[in-house]
Amino acid sequence: MSAQEHVHEHVVKAMLREAGVPVPRGVVLPPDTRDFGAAGELTEPLVLKAFGPQLVHKSEAGAVTLGLRATELPRAAARMRERVPHLAGFLVEEQAAAGVELIVGLVRDAAFGPVLLAGLGGVWTETLRDTALRLCPVSEPDARRMLASLRAAPLLAGSRGRPPVDLAALVKLLLAVGGPGGLWERLELGEFELNPVIATPDGVTAVDARYLPAAPPPPVTRGGTADFLPLFEPRAVAVVGASATRPTFGNMFLDFYRAAGVPLVAVHPKAEEVAGVPAVRSLSEAAETADVDYALVAVPAERCPEVVAQAAGVPFVQVMSGGFGEAGRAGLEDELVAAARAAGTRLLGPNCMGVYCPRGRQTFVGGGLGPPGSVALISQSGGLAGEVIKVGERRGLAFSRVVTVGNAADVTPAELLRWLARDEETRAVGLYLEDPRDGRELYEALRALDRPVVLLVGGRTGQGRAAAASHTGGLVSDRRLWEAVAEQAGAALVTSQDDLIGVLAYFQAHAARPADGDGVLVVGPSGGASVLAADAFDAAGVRLDPLPEDVAGELRGLGVAAFGNPLEAPVGPRGRPDLVPAVVAAILRVRAYRDVVAHVNVQAFFTYGDAPEALYAYAHALAAAQGTLPRTRFTLVTRNGECAPPGVEDEVRRVAAAAGIPVYRSMEAAAVAVAAGGDHGAA
Ligand code: ADP
Ligand code: MG
Repeated sequence: MSAQEHVHEHVVKAMLREAGVPVPRGVVLPPDTRDFGAAGELTEPLVLKAFGPQLVHKSEAGAVTLGLRATELPRAAARMRERVPHLAGFLVEEQAAAGVELIVGLVRDAAFGPVLLAGLGGVWTETLRDTALRLCPVSEPDARRMLASLRAAPLLAGSRGRPPVDLAALVKLLLAVGGPGGLWERLELGEFELNPVIATPDGVTAVDARYLPAAPPPPVTRGGTADFLPLFEPRAVAVVGASATRPTFGNMFLDFYRAAGVPLVAVHPKAEEVAGVPAVRSLSEAAETADVDYALVAVPAERCPEVVAQAAGVPFVQVMSGGFGEAGRAGLEDELVAAARAAGTRLLGPNCMGVYCPRGRQTFVGGGLGPPGSVALISQSGGLAGEVIKVGERRGLAFSRVVTVGNAADVTPAELLRWLARDEETRAVGLYLEDPRDGRELYEALRALDRPVVLLVGGRTGQGRAAAASHTGGLVSDRRLWEAVAEQAGAALVTSQDDLIGVLAYFQAHAARPADGDGVLVVGPSGGASVLAADAFDAAGVRLDPLPEDVAGELRGLGVAAFGNPLEAPVGPRGRPDLVPAVVAAILRVRAYRDVVAHVNVQAFFTYGDAPEALYAYAHALAAAQGTLPRTRFTLVTRNGECAPPGVEDEVRRVAAAAGIPVYRSMEAAAVAVAAGGDHGAA
């Protein structure tokens, strides 16, 4: 299809008027006209604009003249004809009153589909880049939040004696463009941009409109709806690619599976057994002789399609080998997918580690299976998933289902997420993604998910995509799109593996806990630590509401002199271990905080004391408080934990975990986790 051209401004404006977006009244005149009588209907001052196929940035080409009287039009047009060689016609329109100039745009992102952008427009667009993004369709609260998130929000709300702009009209405009049934549904995006929209106390007007249609994208094939239970809990597993003579990847996984205890069969062209596991000649033979629900294929990439072609009867095949799309061999990957389709099997990977599910004896990690639990993880990186499993279990996580998808050539994160949404074993989900393949599908699966979810995205560059003809295109970056996805889908977005684990630990502990109240109370020793705690929570976007006044007397009675949130309260080797619980209980009787974050300085227990008992006693007191205050979410921060002798932190963790309290080693980590729980915890 040939490259499409910009639609003339007046044509776009007619569409806008139809869609309920206010545009200036105007008339269109032929390029050689001498008769401007038609403009007599319009109210001065007037604006003269030229339009034509090459005219994209009109001001730069001298194709906009503002502030004209009707009698001045002929001369202004004559001058414009001299400056602008191939003009196709003139638009004469009324000049809108000055106000706040905004940009409103639409683009179709290759992964996420139609996206709405709104921000500060006019001459400020490029310099300040003060914009907000949302995936279409946007809701009215989305539209309001977009505007509120701008640095320029005070300009809209009225500042320095200026009255507020008509916010309701602005929200209506955003919805007409990007809301349900909005223009985004009818346009061929391409790019679409209103810059500026002029907002005043009396309303909004789109005074410029630009629309570059593009060929519609190819229809996406939506993922299937497999039952993934046999993937996670296979009756038997076949391993293709273990060697009878030398250790390979296949052998390593065979060992992991043997340790896990799942029924196993090896596929080997000659050997009767491989590392003590009975072998058959081919995958089809394995499928016939055992209840194989899952086959792991670890042979060189070129040989994978022929192995997968023999998988008829095996519902899931995992191709561990790399050397496909990620190595520039898209053709080989297509061949692999075709082989899987022909065999009627679903393909996991290629280029992935596999599945981990203690209750299904599924694994790809050494060191044995951890305890079965309620946390699921979908990861596009196998290595990272292995780390999250091992480090997470060390920190008390227990997994329901972990699945790595690698190149996601067939089974996608979105499809797995839809299945996990109905999985009774799973109460919270973590995702590590680099390129989800079909971002829109993933977004919809996230929105449909009714349990807490945390998202870590690798390779989120802050760079805008190559700008075509509009600012809008250049202002849309991967990072900002993921922020929009998280915001609109109610997912927590974190920036490190550590925070991914930390947030999952919070979800595991508290997702099922119905909580009263709102806001966070932070309590622990040291003025400096309290000040820094306030900063850490602020950075995580969590508000620390002031304490209720009427509890001051009672706190003084308990021996707490300072009064604030964070609340400075002595915790140490010589203090009462139940002082903090008593203080918290007194406060919660007056005002329900949803979260209580208790912190201790572990170092003090061993500098001013020499036995861990006082620290344990504090942990037990906090655990008891969680028991008596089940509708408040307790979190413990063990600052300076490295000062404790070996084993002490583990014991504190054990006591806390038994009471359903997550433990963090830094205030920052706790703040991120509590923030994630704020919007996404149990209802
Ligand atoms: P460009 O193609 O250069 O973006 P515009 O149509 O946006 O051309 O016009 C340039 C500037 O002129 C706008 O940013 C706006 O400030 C002003 N302008 C254009 N049309 C009008 C109008 N009808 N009323 C008020 N101001 C206008
Ligand atoms: Mg413009």
